[in-house]
Formats: sequence, structure tokens, C-alpha cells
Amino acid sequence: MKFIRFTSDDDNTYYGVVESQEDKRARIVKGSIFADFSVTEKFAPIKKYLSPVLPPNIIGIGLNYAKHAEETGIGYPEIPVMFLKGTNAVTAHLQPIHLPGIGPDEVDYEAELAVVIGKPAKNVTKDKAGEYILGYCCANDVSARDWQIKKQKKQWARGKSFDTFCPIGPCLVTRDEIPNPNGLWIQTEVNGTILQDSHTSDMIYDVPTLVSHLSQSMTLMPGTVILTGTPEGVGFTRKPPVFLREGDQVTVSIETIGRLINPVVREK
Ligand code: MG
Repeated sequence: MKFIRFTSDDDNTYYGVVESQEDKRARIVKGSIFADFSVTEKFAPIKKYLSPVLPPNIIGIGLNYAKHAEETGIGYPEIPVMFLKGTNAVTAHLQPIHLPGIGPDEVDYEAELAVVIGKPAKNVTKDKAGEYILGYCCANDVSARDWQIKKQKKQWARGKSFDTFCPIGPCLVTRDEIPNPNGLWIQTEVNGTILQDSHTSDMIYDVPTLVSHLSQSMTLMPGTVILTGTPEGVGFTRKPPVFLREGDQVTVSIETIGRLINPVVREK
């Protein structure tokens, strides 16, 4: 099933089910997608996409694709690299990414497979990890590199937590439709040019390993989003570097999930 969260013509917010991203209306869902719900026979027009989830935590995993770890020059991590990203950063399909008014101009894209936790997960084994996953979304772990690396002395959280720096969407695809989350194509396009073109099989720590690992220290509450890392081709490693500019359009595409599209504007 493909869940979306949206506002409709009556300005109410709904969860809905769509067949495809091209649908102009969604079948309304009653109840919570994290508990009991039913898909009704009623349809509502989609006026505005919202993030499919309002996460209690966003856990980022760094350097988790082999070719990306190589391109950064940092190398393979001995354990999963973990950081927390502010939930204030969440935004949705077709909503703008704001270049921070404070500067800088080194804002980068990171296509990521987002794992959405469905039920409280603590001390979960790798072979049971899948049972705790509700589904998957596309995400963009937007990162202001000079804050991430220079100004904050390699403390990543601030440079990754500016408002609108976590587009999630367009939909949440339930796990039954993605039996192997490490078998998906993943891409980023900026203004139609493909800049990241990879496959989730390049992950160093696969999805079950990440869920199990994180759950050893913290309860992963329903709605928790795990950003599973980005593949090679990010802007700051390019020669010359590529950073997002006002007027750009960034698209993160993942096989079976869809296309997460965001325009780039400058914060007033
Ligand atoms: Mg990332």
C-alpha cells in the first residue's frame, strides 16, 4: 500500500491511499496507520502533500554507502555512524527547501531511503527487524556543508537540521511491497541532471542491521525515521563542487517508492 498524508479541498488533513504518484485523489484512511486503520470507500482530492510521517526522532546514518565513504576520503566506518537530525527540518513533496538566510551557500543534497518504524522496537534482533518496520519513503538529508564540517567543527547535527532540510515523501510504501529494502535503485536529479545514481545494495550496514543496532540503545518509537545514508555523487565531493541554488529543483527517486520533488528558495 502507498500511504500519503495530505490536505484536501476542505482544508482538512487526511491519510489516504493512492495507486500511483499521478493520482489526483486518494482513498481516505480512517484511524492510525501505526495502529488500527481501515481504508474507506471515500475519495478526497489531493490539494497539498504533507510528510507521510511526523517523526518523534530522525536518526541519520552517515557514510553508509561504500562508494560514498570512499568519495569523502574518510573511509569505511567500523560501526554505523549515527547522528540525530532535528524534527523541525521535516518538509514534504513539492514544498520548498529554504537556503538559510544566515548563510552559507554550501547546501548539498543527499538521496536516502527512509525507514519508518511501525511499533516500539527495543533490543530487536536482525532477523526480526523487518517486523518493526511499517514502510519506506524517499528522503533528502539536506546538509549545509560548511556548518557540518567547518563552522561546527565536524558536529554534523546543526548543519543538517536547518528548517526544511528533511523532505520526506511523496508516499510511505508498506514493507510488504518492498521485501528487500537493499535491492532498490536510488537517484538524485538536480534540474533534470542525474547526480546520484546508485543502488541500496551498496549500503555497508543493511536495513535490518541498522534497526537492530539502533534498538540496542534506544526504543525506536512508532514513526521514527531512520535515514539510511546516501550513495556517491554528493555535491561537495564533486570537482568543482555542486551546491543547491535558488531556483533549482531537486528530485530524489527510489524504485517502487516514487519521486520526491522539492524546489529550492532562499529563506527571507
Ligand atoms: Mg545523510
